This record gives sequence, C-alpha cells and structure tokens, in this order.
Amino acid sequence: MGVIKVLAPEIAQKIAAGEVVERPVSVVKELVENSLDAAATEIKVELLDGGKKLIRVQDNGWGMSQEDAALCFRRYATSKISVEEDLEKIATLGFRGEALASISAVSRLVLKTFNGQEDRGYLVEREGDKLIRFVEISFPQGTMVEVYDLFFNLPARKKFLRSERSELSLVVNYLTQVALAYPEVKFTLSNNNREVINCPGVVSLKDRVYQLYGKKLLDNLMPIDYEEGAYRITGLCSRPFSGRIDRQRQLFFVNRRPVKDRILVAALTQAYLGLLERQKNPEGFFFLEIPYDQVDVNVHPAKAEVRFREPQQVYRLILKAVELGAQQESLIKPIIVEGSEKKEEAEVESGLIPIETQREVSSEPLSLIEDQKKLELINFRNEEVKRVAEGYPQDRQPFQVLGQYLASYIVATSEEGLLIIDQHNAHERILFEKFEKMEQENSWKSRQMLFPTVLELSPGQRLNYEELKEELEKIGFVLEPMGGNSLALKEYPDFFKEKEASEILLSLLEDNNRDKFKDRRTKLLATMACKSAIKAGQALSLAEMEYLTVELFQTKNPGICPHGRPVIIKIERSRIERAIGRQPE
Ligand code: ADP
Ligand code: MG
Repeated sequence: MGVIKVLAPEIAQKIAAGEVVERPVSVVKELVENSLDAAATEIKVELLDGGKKLIRVQDNGWGMSQEDAALCFRRYATSKISVEEDLEKIATLGFRGEALASISAVSRLVLKTFNGQEDRGYLVEREGDKLIRFVEISFPQGTMVEVYDLFFNLPARKKFLRSERSELSLVVNYLTQVALAYPEVKFTLSNNNREVINCPGVVSLKDRVYQLYGKKLLDNLMPIDYEEGAYRITGLCSRPFSGRIDRQRQLFFVNRRPVKDRILVAALTQAYLGLLERQKNPEGFFFLEIPYDQVDVNVHPAKAEVRFREPQQVYRLILKAVELGAQQESLIKPIIVEGSEKKEEAEVESGLIPIETQREVSSEPLSLIEDQKKLELINFRNEEVKRVAEGYPQDRQPFQVLGQYLASYIVATSEEGLLIIDQHNAHERILFEKFEKMEQENSWKSRQMLFPTVLELSPGQRLNYEELKEELEKIGFVLEPMGGNSLALKEYPDFFKEKEASEILLSLLEDNNRDKFKDRRTKLLATMACKSAIKAGQALSLAEMEYLTVELFQTKNPGICPHGRPVIIKIERSRIERAIGRQPE
C-alpha cells in the first residue's frame, strides 16, 4: 500500500501561508505594500504587543469595491497582473495575490474598505479560512486591515515569535526602509498606543533622512545621481572620510522596493576603495531605477531579493555614481570631524606653531620632476604659479604657500583657512593621476638598456611577475628571463631613473594582493606613485611647494592619496578665530 497522501486544503494553505507570513513584520510589510499599491498618501500602522496581539494598517488609498472585498482573500486573487507576460514587467509591489489569503489563513482578520464610488463601504471578518461576517458599513475612503492573534491556529509558528521588543524593532526597521523609499507618503507607527514613528510626507529623500536620522547623519552624506541608458541611480551616501564601522546602514532599493543583494554590496565596497579610511564602511541609501523587464522580482516569496538581467551594468552604475559624487566633494579633510570643543582647541594650539619656513632651493632634485619636469620646476616663478592658479575652476579656492613644517608638510592659506598639506601624499596623488592618464592614453615611453640590470627575484616575486607580465609591459617594464629566478630589466618607463625603475619594479612584484585597491592596475599605478613620490623629511623650495600645491589642486581628488589617506588638513578660519577668542567679522 502506498504511503503518500495529498494534504487537505487547510493544511496546504497553512504551509503556503508560512512562506509569506513569518512574523508580525511580514504582515506589516504585505499590508503596507498593498496600501502603497493603492496609491495611499497616508499609512498608519498600529500594533499591540509588537504585533503579536494586533496589527492594524489603515490607508487612504483607492479602497475596494464590494466585489473586490469579497474576492481579495482568495489565493492568487490579484488586480495587479492578469496574463503571464505581466510577470516580465512588474511595476507594483505586490503581484502574487497571496498576502491576504495567507494572512487570513493564520489569524483572525477584519477588513474595512470604501472606494468612494459605491454607496457604502464594507466590513469583512474572517477567522482562519472561515468567513464570519460581510456587512455594509460607512467608512472613509481607503482600507483598514486588522490582524488579531497571529498564528492562533498554528502553535508551532507562534512559539517562534520573539519578545515584543524584538518583533517591534523588526517592524520599525522595515517601516524606516519604506519611509525612505516613499518620502511623499506619511507614515506613522505606534505600539501599545505609544507613537514610535511619525513622518509627515516630505518632498525629498534628504528631508526624509533628516526626519528619521537627524542632521548629523545628513551632514555625512553626499548626493548621487547617475544615469546610463535606461538605468539610473540616485540617493545619498557617505562623503569621503566619513562612513561607519559596520555595514548596518547600506540600504538598497530597486524601483523603490527594498532589496538585499550581494552584488550591490560588493559594488559599493569597491566604489569606496580609497575614499574611506581603513575599517570604515560606506553608508547610504541607494535607489536604482531599472526598467521593469530588466529585473526579476519573482525570486523570493517575501520579495526581499531580486535578480538583475544585467548585473554588470548595475555594478558599474554604483561605481560611477560614487566616483562622480565624490568628485563634487571638496575632499579636503576638515581637521576636526567630531569631538569636544575643548579637544579641538587643544589641537589647534599644539598642531601649528611654529611654522618653519624653508626658502632655499633644495640640493636634491625632486625625483618626480626628473628630466623634462626638472627644468620646468627650476624656472617656475610666482607669476606662473599665479597663472595656473587663476585657471582654476571657480569653486576651487586660491591659496598661498607660506612654507614648510618639519620638512614634511606644506603650510598654506586659503580663503577658508589654514591648509596643511602632506608633501608625500600630495605628490603621490599627483603622480597617480598622471600615471593613470599616461596609461589611458597609452603614452608611456620606455627606455631601452644597453646593459640590462639583472634582478634576482624571490619565488613569490617570480610568480607575481608571471601574472603581471602583460600589464607591466603595457607601462614599459620589459624583462627577459635569465634562468632560475633571475630576470634582466631590458626596458623601463623613461619617467624613472634606472635605479628607481628597478626598485619600483621589485616592490610592484612584492605582493600581488589587491588589498584596498579597485583592481590590480590601480594598485600598480598607486605603488609606482608611492615609490617615486618625494618623501617626508625632504626640504623643498618655495617654488617646489607651490608647484606641488598647484598640481595637487588640479587633480580629481586632491584630498586623498591613492591609499585613502588624507592629503590636506584644513583648519577653518572660524575655528581659529573661535579658539583665539576673536569674534568672526
Ligand atoms: P497582491 O498584492 O499580490 O495583489 P494581496 O493578497 O496582497 O495580493 O491583495 C489582493 C488584492 O486585494 C490586491 O491585488 C488589491 O486589488 C486588493 N487590495 C489589497 N489591499 C488593498 C488596499 N489596501 N487597498 C486597495 N486594494 C487592496
Ligand atoms: Mg499584496
């Protein structure tokens, strides 16, 4: 005799309900999505005991007709799609026609609705899968759903509900997310009659972030807005040098639907390489607008995940958006980001004086400005610096170099305050962008050696060499195997001196771990920039300092070195005046 039985519909229904309804927050999510799909502009969520006793969601949306109020509890009953092709381009939050069926299968439920067109509204009361009442009522336009005693008929599930607080906090998190996606909608949430969220409708994401998180977070965020073909991304995300220790606040939305997705997280991490200090993660709110047929939302019962048709394009969109956003930022690290006023004053006091000025031309030439550049530098006069400085885009502040401190920092002033520029990091940034450009334009020139230097590589370096060979050749490093781990340096980029070239090459081969870099190429260029940049401790002439400063301010990211360290510290004028006790004019 066979052992397989077809389950009774009540059991099947409960199993199905379990996929959609896991806990109070799942009910809130489904009901709020329905309200948004019904074009509500006000959504009120009330809970008792974190939703375990009661979840009530009321909206001022379209409401339902008598016929719809009767039909909406049937499984696969939906007004949002009708034919199979519709699944290819879902524009609503709901579409499975399962939520009300599932919720009502595992609770006692009351629905009140009025569509503003029929004479009256309707009340439907259900318990499990039984209809208890269906009556006419008078009711304002919109819909209200009350869900009592969730899982009253599913004790196994009920046991897994957590404390009131933790169920409530899940609801708070969820509502925070939708509230971000729908700033124009008013959301309120209360638990046991105590208000938890109250967000009147506003016009922009920025206002909503302010309502939910306050000014402090907003100050750390920059806007992004980037479009490529039919794809667009907008949002607010970490300014350079901000970020937070954890990844808690990276919220992604695809066509306003909150989603979790590994690709998006990975893209974001990469986008911020070099923009944040070590151990910091970007935070922000990212809104992707993707044509409905380019994204499959039907891959998860609770619709928390999506699948992209062109994941690469989505990835690139994030990279680009952050890159462009960061370029709009000043990228100059303010000296005091946080902390008490006292500490700030102490820093101002101890950090600055005395300024040693160093006006003699240093005996050692700058290695950066070897050959073609050296001449340029020596002939560099103040007039020329001024000319270059005047050519700046208006938003860049003109500055004046005062001198050098500890033979490592250039001290300069600008309209905004006092600038302290790390000479090594600055030079690194300048060279990095120069190298990047040369690489893009394929304009590396190499010098051929008559008597090649023989380099002895470690096994690790040798292995890395095999892997990097092509990239190295592209920028002008050509080696010839000599047997064993010996290689002859036959050609090197003529930007460097010979000795420099072999040192740089060896350090490029040292480790092939990408650590903080976007890709191997970036790391290669950054390492070259670092190795060939002037060091701390090298005395510079005023002309050299001016040269560096002018060049630095012409780079795309003057505020950060390719390794993500700050290049410039700014002590704002207002801080100085405050610390000194002078009233700002
Ligand atoms: P789905 O949202 O996937 O269509 P649901 O079970 O959530 O499935 O809802 C079934 C139908 O009931 C919806 O398609 C919609 O027509 C109607 N409905 C549900 N909630 C509301 C609401 N708050 N306002 C207006 N209509 C609603
Ligand atoms: Mg729905």
